[in-house]
Order: sequence, then structure tokens, then C-alpha cells
Amino acid sequence: MTDYMAQMLNELMGSQRDAMPGEQKELEFSDPSVCTDFLVGFCVHDLFRNTKNDLGFCQYTIHDESLKRKYEKSDKRGRLGFERRFLERIQRINDDCQRKVLRNMDRLNVTQGENKVSEEVFAKKLEELNVRREAISNKIDGLMNEAQIHGELGKVEAAQAAVDKADRAKQERDELDNEETKIKNERARALSMEESVTMGNRQMQVCQVCGCFMLQNDAQQRIDDHITGKLHIAYQTILDNIERLAKEIDDFRSKRRGSSEREERRRDDRRRSRSRSRDRSHRHGSSSRSHGHHYHHRSDRRSHRH
Ligand SMILES: [Zn+2]
Ligand SMILES: [Zn+2]
Repeated sequence: MTDYMAQMLNELMGSQRDAMPGEQKELEFSDPSVCTDFLVGFCVHDLFRNTKNDLGFCQYTIHDESLKRKYEKSDKRGRLGFERRFLERIQRINDDCQRKVLRNMDRLNVTQGENKVSEEVFAKKLEELNVRREAISNKIDGLMNEAQIHGELGKVEAAQAAVDKADRAKQERDELDNEETKIKNERARALSMEESVTMGNRQMQVCQVCGCFMLQNDAQQRIDDHITGKLHIAYQTILDNIERLAKEIDDFRSKRRGSSEREERRRDDRRRSRSRSRDRSHRHGSSSRSHGHHYHHRSDRRSHRH
């Protein structure tokens, strides 16, 4: 039977559907088909169903509300390791999500960084152009000066040659002027694009809960839509439950520590009274037994802590 079918049947008929009528077997919390995540919180497969992070169906077929209520009242609660396993699972999911948050925040920054680089490239090109143009202008000034001197000296040919050279240099300078206009236009286009991109980025932010891109200062309706979206709610639920479970596990632990200390005192008392009575009845051979009991007691305590 497919997981889907099994789950459907469980939902329709309850988890005891396999039991023969009249001999309803008692379902154990640790039954291999029980989703223990569901017992202590929720099934992550249900949580992400029909979101873009859909995890498919749960491998455990039993998600039973009445079993969950029974577990909540049971004295086995907090003693079977279900809570810790669930906490680890949802912590892993949250860790993955937080990595996505960082990745997406990086993506916003990188886009802005690239635009800064292109502005630097334009500035460099214009600076180079200016240096070349200044050199040409100096050359033109020099040639014109030369032509004037030659003219004053009556060297008409030499004067004409210098003027011709100066004219060619002026052409060259005009070309540089055209190039500058081209670069400036290109930069203006890029800047307006950059502006729209950075504007876009400035308005973009990454949701710290689910890692999705959101518009800053977005219309309240759209913010509400995001906050009440299934994926955002799923990750918010996980955050809330990490906090709840961590506290719960702490409480179980300190309660257990309290009770095992009480137990220890009780056992100490029993041992003392037993060894007193042993001392009274048979004085010999009691030391090895008391040693054995002591060892057993220590390992008992250790298993309670974990
Ligand atoms: Zn499940
Ligand atoms: Zn979100």
C-alpha cells in the first residue's frame, strides 16, 4: 500500500483500523508506524504540504489525535526521546532556512557591489581620456607657438607644416571629445539602470523567518499576505516550537534530576536500613553484596539522565 493510501485510510478510519473488531489492540507510543513528531508537536510533512518546500508524505502512517492526547497525559512523556528527536529535526530545517536567509542577503549586496564597480570603470575611462586630451592640447599649443615663431621669422613652409600638424592634433582632440560624449552617455544610461536596480534592491529585503525576498515598505495587504502565507507560517511555527521544545526538554531534565535525587535518597535510606539488618543477621559476606548494589545504583542514575 502506498503511504498516501495508508494515510488516507488512517484519516478515515483512525489508526486502529488494522485491529480486529472486538480485540482492539492498545497502540504503543513507540509503535514503529507512529509518527512521534506528531505526538510531541506536529508532523513536518504536514506542515510543508503544498508549499514549494513540500517534503512528500511522512514514512510513518499513524498521526493520531487521540494517541497524542493520551501521550500528553502519559507519565512516559519526556522519557522516550521523542522530544529531543523532534527538536533536532526542526532545528535542522531552521538551520537550512537561515542559510538561505544569509545567501539571499548576500545576493542583494552583490548586485549593489557590481554597480559600484561599473561606476569605477567609467570614472577611470574618463580620467584616461582627459589625460590624453590634455597632452594633445599641449601639443597643439606647442605647434601653434612654433608656427607663430616660424611665421615671425618668415619661414612660411615651416610655419605651414606646424599649423598642419596642429590641425591633425585638433582632429584627434575632436575624436576624443566624441569618445567622451559616448562614455558619458553610456554612464548616464548605466546610472539610470543602476538607480532602478539599486532602488529595486533598496526596496527589497529578505524575510528573516522564511528567507523569501520581500519588498520594503510594501502595501500592508501584501505584507499580510506574506505573513499569512503557508511557507512563512511553517517556518514561524518551527521557530516557535524550537523555543517551546528546548524549554520543555529542560523542564523534563530538571524534573528527572529532582526525582532521581529523591530516588537516590530513598535508596540510600533503604540500603542503610538493609545493611543494618544484614549486619544484625549475618555479619559475614555482606560487603560484596553491598558493593554490587552500589554499582547497579550508579548505572541506573546515568541511564535516567539521558
Ligand atoms: Zn509524520
Ligand atoms: Zn517570510
